[in-house]
Amino acid sequence: MLERPTSYFGRYVFNEKAMRERLPKNVFEQLTNALNGGPQKLNIRIADVVAAAMKEWATSLGATHYAHWFHPRTELTAEKHMAFLSIDETGTPLETFTGSELIQGEPDASSLPSGGMRSTFEARGYTAWDPTSPAFIIPTKKGGTLCIPSIFLSWDGTPLDMKMPLLKAITAIEERSLKLMRLFGNRGVRWVKVTVGAEQEFFLIDETLARRRPDIVLCGRTILGCPPPKGQQLEDHYFGAIHPRVLAYMDDVEIEMHKLGIAVKTRHDETAPCQFEFAPQFTEANLATDQNQIMMTLMKRIARHHNLRLLLHEKPFAGINGSGKHTNVSLLDSEGFNLLEPSNNQRRNVQFLAFLGALILGVSKYSSLLRASVASPGNMHRLGGFEAPPAIMSIYLGNTLTNVLDRLEEGFPEEIPTSGMMDLGLNKLPSIKKENSDRNRTAPLAFTGNKFEFRATGASQSIAGPLTMLLAIWAWGIEEITNRIESRLGSSDITDATLDVLRGVAKESANVRFEGNCYDESWHEEAVRRGLPIANTTPEALSYYLIPENRELLSNLGIMTDREITAYYETRLEQYIKTVDVEMAVMEDMIRRGILPSISKQITQEGNAFERAISLYDEDFECWRGQIRSLCETKEQLIKKLKELGQFRKKISETNLDESASLMTHDGLKLMNEIRALSDAAEAWISDDIQPYPPYRDLLVIQ
Ligand code: ADP
Ligand code: MG
Repeated sequence: MLERPTSYFGRYVFNEKAMRERLPKNVFEQLTNALNGGPQKLNIRIADVVAAAMKEWATSLGATHYAHWFHPRTELTAEKHMAFLSIDETGTPLETFTGSELIQGEPDASSLPSGGMRSTFEARGYTAWDPTSPAFIIPTKKGGTLCIPSIFLSWDGTPLDMKMPLLKAITAIEERSLKLMRLFGNRGVRWVKVTVGAEQEFFLIDETLARRRPDIVLCGRTILGCPPPKGQQLEDHYFGAIHPRVLAYMDDVEIEMHKLGIAVKTRHDETAPCQFEFAPQFTEANLATDQNQIMMTLMKRIARHHNLRLLLHEKPFAGINGSGKHTNVSLLDSEGFNLLEPSNNQRRNVQFLAFLGALILGVSKYSSLLRASVASPGNMHRLGGFEAPPAIMSIYLGNTLTNVLDRLEEGFPEEIPTSGMMDLGLNKLPSIKKENSDRNRTAPLAFTGNKFEFRATGASQSIAGPLTMLLAIWAWGIEEITNRIESRLGSSDITDATLDVLRGVAKESANVRFEGNCYDESWHEEAVRRGLPIANTTPEALSYYLIPENRELLSNLGIMTDREITAYYETRLEQYIKTVDVEMAVMEDMIRRGILPSISKQITQEGNAFERAISLYDEDFECWRGQIRSLCETKEQLIKKLKELGQFRKKISETNLDESASLMTHDGLKLMNEIRALSDAAEAWISDDIQPYPPYRDLLVIQ
């Protein structure tokens, strides 16, 4: 008899239930008070009690180690395991875990990227417990590790991770949201929280085949490979019946996720062959970020148990759809209201429009920051690929809301023709029915009925980065709208004041609102006319972090100091350069040791057969000869291009950061494309028995 998920859901999480059971009542109350923004800070006495309870709980579930678990700027997670076991003066083994060990850890962090924020002689970074995300256990075969979600700082308190900026952005928007809500007379609301649900797309391929490809092993994507005879032309994969091997994998992932308190709600086949999606139920932003990181780590690990390889890369296969991570965001108040949910109550609806308008206003001014937040080495191959949102950031609102904004802009005509509308309870405005109709999947940012969905996030990215920027932009918008409303309150009531403010917002945000097909070439031209920032490459998009207005926004909101922004930019740029450089090295290696020798073998085989054929028959076999010749020429070209690649990489190693990024992106990627085209052309003519690497044809089928 299988156990039901409800019986093990959250078993490995030190959640409220576990804490309530194991902590003295007063400590539990002090802790939860502090977590809900109460005045009292956590002190070492409380930490000692919590640590002891945590240790008892974790060891009772088999954990032998603990680790401060954090998000360095690699976007992966890092952990340094410490054993609970220690030996006292008398030689007796004990299990210990103190409050100070819970609160602070000191990994030697000199090998994690900091963008010049920390020199090696001051290598110590430290990690600090983030009690707003619950500790959890990652079990192993013979034990397990208690993971303590933490932030990561340098010795002088400078953040070195993805988490600190996110937590600051969350605070910035939550505080401002409360203030705006108070204007609408919501006196009883104690808190506002950001809610997030991230839909994770991924590929699964056979592990035995994957292991034979250095590009997949080392880069997580294919760098070479000619198109398969059957790709996604037939569109037969999306929502298809899930292959039993994949389904078995998904079952296992779900069980582990459930034990870790992650409620996976949907699982399905995606558009491309071997592509799938998991979506968990939304939760608080900080926790959702941690949960997505845990999910990615465990998905990777569990795949191995099924002899599968998980690919989270944004574009693992050329010519086949890539993977993203649609990031759904909304705000929830302490009374349980979703602030982006249209309602039947007039005041709530005007308030809803104010929150919606705030994000639109923010994006109209700071869309470049949103673009920067999704700039990664892998996402460059995905964005704008006629499968994913383009590199231009725009907002899709749907007919109804667009209609509302248009009417507002025109200045409230008394009679507005309405159809299928949401009730704003005003004569002055059309009534709107809650809209669930967004199926324009081409927009990077879309209002989807009761939340915004940001679709440009890459599948392998931590959502922390994109969320930080989106929330910063929204927080700014909320503050701006609040100020504008306040300045009108003397002469008009809250409804009229807000609608008047929104009229301005409708005008100001026209540049960034677009309802049409974002994949269409004409949108690109239109965006140029509108003066929207368009960055097709990762370095260009990253440079948007350095725009003075963007820097000011982040520092004014207390999210990052000016110096931190520069460091953040440099870390990202360096990551890009290093990634492309590794890809180049892998390409060189695969061509030299795999493709070139296989071409020779093919030429020998064909040459021998050809000679035999002409000795037997009195014919030229012109096409055949031409084919052998063309293989020889391809080989010659490849050797020439490899030489160029070697020289190029040498040149890069001697130039500075910005210059090498630009060289890589223009000359480097062009060279890689040329080499790939030659290699793929040769591959198509190499017989199966001497193919050096499993081809797309085999990789993209799960047997
Ligand atoms: P889709 O049709 O785009 O797949 P779903 O309704 O399945 O959309 O939701 C996708 C994700 O959005 C899920 O992770 C879900 O939990 C999340 N989501 C739903 N409501 C909210 C909300 N109020 N705030 C944040 N995320 C939400
Ligand atoms: Mg969605």
